[in-house]
Formats: sequence, C-alpha cells, structure tokens
Amino acid sequence: MFSLREKSLYVDALGLWIDSMRPRSRCYVSHGHSDHARAHAVVITSRNNAKVCAHRFARDSKPAAAHAATGEAAAHAGGGEAAAHTGAGQAAAHTRMAQFARRRSEPARAHADTGEPAVAFETHAFNEPWREGEYELTLFSAGHVLGSAQLLIESERGRFVYTGDFKLEPSLTAEPPEVKRCDTLLMECTYGRPHYVFPPRAEVAGAMVAWARKALDDGAVPIFYAYSLGKAQEAMAILGRGGIPLAAHGAIASMAHVYESAGVAMPPFERYDATRFDGPRALIWPPHSRALPIPLRERKVRTAALTGWVLDGASAWQRTDTGFPLSDHADYPSLLRYIELAQPHKVLLNHGRRDFAPRLRKLGIDAEYLEHHTQLALF
Ligand SMILES: [Zn+2]
Repeated sequence: MFSLREKSLYVDALGLWIDSMRPRSRCYVSHGHSDHARAHAVVITSRNNAKVCAHRFARDSKPAAAHAATGEAAAHAGGGEAAAHTGAGQAAAHTRMAQFARRRSEPARAHADTGEPAVAFETHAFNEPWREGEYELTLFSAGHVLGSAQLLIESERGRFVYTGDFKLEPSLTAEPPEVKRCDTLLMECTYGRPHYVFPPRAEVAGAMVAWARKALDDGAVPIFYAYSLGKAQEAMAILGRGGIPLAAHGAIASMAHVYESAGVAMPPFERYDATRFDGPRALIWPPHSRALPIPLRERKVRTAALTGWVLDGASAWQRTDTGFPLSDHADYPSLLRYIELAQPHKVLLNHGRRDFAPRLRKLGIDAEYLEHHTQLALF
C-alpha cells in the first residue's frame, strides 16, 4: 500500500504523497516548516496549516528584491529545528507563483503569468474523517506548530498513523496534541536519544522571562533567536505573559498575524523598524538572520538561542550568550510515551536518530528506521 519513491512516502492506493519535498499533483502537508511543506498542485492539510502555507508560499514566490526591501531575506522559511541542526533543511527558494484557495477541493489552475500550476488547498478539520474508496482518512493535531496535523488512514485491514513533527508538551500557541491508537506508526524521532529530556515547559518559560528582565534592567536589549514559524510565536506568548515588552523581526511579525487570524491570542508587539526602535524591548529574531542591523550592533545586546539542542552543550548556542531548551519536538520520554499510548504493532521512524530503532527493539518494540529503498506493505 505504501512505498518510498524518490525519497518521499507515497500511498499507492490513494494516489497520495506525504510531505513530499518535490512538487506533486496531490500531497498531504503535515505543517508549514520548509522541511515538510512545498507548493503542490493540491495540498491536503488542516485549515490552520493552509493559512500558514498560503502565507509562506506567497512570501517565497516574491522576488528576492522584495525581501531585500523589507529586510526579511532568508528569514521567511520558518525552517524546522531538526533540519537546521543538520544544515540540510535551509529553505530552497520557491519561485513557483501560487494562488490560494481555501475552499475545500477547489481545483488547481494555471497561473496567468507564469503558466505554473496554482496551489489548491483541500482542508479538513481535525477529527472530521473523510472517505476515499475503501479508506477513511482523518487529520488530528500534532501540537508542533499552528495547524500541524497528523494523518490517520484506516481500512478494515488496519490503522496507520503518520505523525509528522509533533510534541506532547502543552503549548500556548499550537493546538493541543492528540495520540490515537494504531497498528502501524510512522513517527519522527528528532530527539531519539536518552539524554534529550527537556525540563518542564513552565520552568523554561520562567528562566526566559527572568533572563530578559535582567537584561532590560541592565540596559541591554535581550534578543531571542527563534524560527519564524512556531518557536517565535511561542516565545512571544511566553515573554508577553511575563510582562516583557516585545518587538519582532518582520517575518516573525507577519507570521504572528497569521496566528492571530487563526484565533491565537498574541501579546502586544511592535514590528522591528530600525528607524524607530528605541527599546527597552525584547527582540525576537530568526536564527538565519543572526547578522543584526547596524543600529542594533551599536547597542548593548544579549543573545539567546531557543532550541532543544542546548542539551548537547554550549556548541548549540556558541554564537549567542546563552540558550534555553524550548522545543517544538517531542523529547526522548515523550517519544516513548507516544508509543505507549498508540500501542502500535509496528513502529517506523523517520526524521531523526537512526539509533532510536535499536533502542526500541531492546524494549521489545518492533521498530525500524525508514530507509529510502524500503518498500512497505503495511496492511
Ligand atoms: Zn517542523
């Protein structure tokens, strides 16, 4: 039923690609990070992720000059944490022009100027199944970033779940995650080694707020480096709750408005403008844009990275003053907890640590890392 073709998962029986990195005629897109989302002719996804992707694809289709004019070059991709760590997931610039339809199943059209196919979004609410032949498909929340969706495919022969990126920890800005029981589970395992145990989220949030407050009291601008989709909005929500005044890089501010359009309450913030910025505010900045504008370089600043990789030590934030383990992924105990709740007969792994598979097998779990040559007959 499933196969890996051209490094992408393909559901033969449904003619459906899953998070393919190449443009396809019909593809389920779990969430908006650049290591999962591409502009396909038909994108099947959740309603909120359609908003995120429409925003991202439109930005990506802008000429580079337009980015330069707004000072947002190279900051628009919202790349995934894992991909950035390996250096493999930098956003490839999309030149594809896209028009966006949010109505369900609106057919793809060709763009009038370029002849490129437009993107049509086929959106589904969480936990509202739809039928395709003998299969029933359901999207449900992954808790990773706004709109992130897992996919359940059911037939009388079994239940298959693809997680995409997920976390089980509660978040201020993403929908609460869910775990469904299944027979076969294909899960990400970014933090699939035992030393990746994140502190409680409230503890991390408290430390971020205290650090920002101290910097402001010392007359410095605290700068948090965070991906423009997801991590940045979560950081804004945490700091805003802590009473820290905020300014955000343009790409982050634009995505925050997408969150607001989806009903997520964001704290007050101003869009960073070099001509107007006078502090005292915490700045949220994309990690790909570490080179700060000249007016900021002339100020006293303190910098912090927000990533689970800080558990690996100082190398994770070597170009910043400190780091906080705020992650949008599941840590090692959460990966195990997911499997415990889903109770699959078979676990397939992708997007992460290959040695998580033998660790699971030692625990008596039938697990293997999905390799590119794998042909799967899951049901
Ligand atoms: Zn992601």
